[in-house]
Order: sequence, then C-alpha cells, then structure tokens
Amino acid sequence: MSSQDVRGIVVGSRNAAVGFPAAIRILRAGGSAVDAAIAAVKAVEDDVRDQGVGTGGIPNLLGEVELDASIMDGRTLAAGAVGAVKHYPHPIEIARRVMECTPHVLLVGDGAELFARTHGFEPANLLTPEAEAVWQAVIHGERAPEQNVYEDRYQLYMSVVRRWTELLHRELFGTTNVIVRDLDGNIACAVSTSGWGFKWPGRLGDSPIIGAGNYADNRYGAAACTGRGEMAIRCATAHSVVMYLRFGLPLEDALRQAMLDLRHLEDPYAEAETVMNIVAMDRNGNVAAASTSPHATYIVQTLDMETYEERPRLYVPLRE
Ligand code: ASP
Repeated sequence: MSSQDVRGIVVGSRNAAVGFPAAIRILRAGGSAVDAAIAAVKAVEDDVRDQGVGTGGIPNLLGEVELDASIMDGRTLAAGAVGAVKHYPHPIEIARRVMECTPHVLLVGDGAELFARTHGFEPANLLTPEAEAVWQAVIHGERAPEQNVYEDRYQLYMSVVRRWTELLHRELFGTTNVIVRDLDGNIACAVSTSGWGFKWPGRLGDSPIIGAGNYADNRYGAAACTGRGEMAIRCATAHSVVMYLRFGLPLEDALRQAMLDLRHLEDPYAEAETVMNIVAMDRNGNVAAASTSPHATYIVQTLDMETYEERPRLYVPLRE
C-alpha cells in the first residue's frame, strides 16, 4: 500500500459520482475539505434518480421522505448532524449549520425542521412520483390502490405495521458517503441518506450518528458507512476504523477488523449480502473500502485525474 502524502483527493460510495465534479472544482480552487465534501453530497441529494438520498428517496412507512445527514471536520473534530428531517432537500447543509452555529451536534425531527426554517432553508416536496409509486406498490402488495392512501392514514398505518418487518427485509437501502482531503491536508467526511425504505417514522440509522456512520480525525483518518445502520451503531463502525488506524493498523487491516467486529452481533435482520459497506481514508490520503458483498465498488478521484476511477472493495463476508 502506498504511504505517500496525497492531498486533493475525494473518495466515496459509487452513487457519489454526480457530486465529484463539484468537490474537485472546490479543491482545485483551494477550497476546504468541508466545503468540497458538502458540495458533493448536495449534488447527490439533488439527484432524483437516487432513491436512497435526498429528494427522490424512498419514504418511510407513512409515505413521508425522512432524511438524515452528518458532517465531521477532521481538523477540529467538530461535527453536526440532523435526523428524521422532512421537507428540506439538503440535510447536509442543515447539519453543517448545526456544527457551525450551535453548541449541539445532533438535532432531529420537528426541532431540526424549526432550526432549518429559522436559518432560512427553503422547504420543498421531496417525494417524487417515482418514489411514491414504489411506496404505493409495496404497501398495496403490488396491487393498484383502490382508494387514495392518504384518506385514511391510520387504518393504512395499522395494516402495514403488521407487515412491517417483512417490508424491511426488502433491500431498500441507499446512502452517500464522501471523504475529502484538501490541499492543506485537512480531512472531512459527509454522509446523507433517506435511510431504510419503509423505516419506522423517527428511526435513525448510522448516517447521522457520529462514530457510527461517520468519523473523521486528521491525525488518523476517516471512515463512513452504508448498509444496515443498526449494525454500524452497535459496533461504532466508523469510529472503529479510525481507532484501528490510531493503533497502527494499515488501512486495509483497519477496515477488515471493523468489518470482522460485525460478526459478533446477533442480528436476525442481517441476512442481506450487502449488509455493510465502509469507505475510508488514512491520514496521508490513502483510500480503501470494504463490503460484505463480493461485487461492491467505490470511487476515487485526485486533482490530476480527469474523472473518477471505480475500484473494487475489499470483500469481508459477514459470515465465515
Ligand atoms: N445506513 C443507512 C441507514 O441505515 C442506509 C443505507 O446505507 O442504505 O439508514
């Protein structure tokens, strides 16, 4: 593995590609890792074809798009996050404002929306016809709805609750991760998601939880997760990667160790092959990623590259 000092680099989940040009532009202009990471994630939040992030995300059990996001600045270990935010298309920007303008790290639900409103963020409709159609089809068991589902939400809610865990077994995941190291050597990590499709209203995954789905520390490196957030919360997976780096493990070994930690969890919902994915960067800007799927990839771009490069992730199956 290379041990060179790589500055001006962006690494992320495959779906972050739409955001890489914005991040690279900012880095080329001498901008900060935080600015670049947030610009990249905002572009993914605006990508309506991405049904796991921002506008166009698959809604919760009630048919409402509910977003989570976090940002961590590896220079100061400052962090900001929001969870279960409805009506605002850029939770990553709200998370940044929480980091910069409050003594808090995490705001959720109504309080986060009040904060967004008072800070001038514009509300928008996040539910696209495509995402609503997915929701309708699943809720109605692939049948065309006989009546408008919004007419009697409570009845609908109670009926779908009975099938709820069954719905959750479907692979309706999606999150975007972007880690940036700027020309000054500062690292930032940004994460945004609409969470698990058909999640219980108010459910938070790992994405807004600092240490679970996002961690960055200039001194050691950074990591971000996608997949079954409950597992990353229980193992503090992003922080684990950074801790293993701190204790001297090479990047790929740190990733592998954090993935192996997941094997210890008893989790009846963890049968999906793509149950956990991590992207990571060490303090010198070397990057790698891991997955419980043998086919997963991640993307990376440095300032001397025209476009991003897609690379295979280290494969660490959940079961031996
Ligand atoms: N980690 C996200 C969550 O649990 C979902 C995902 O990455 O697909 O909310």
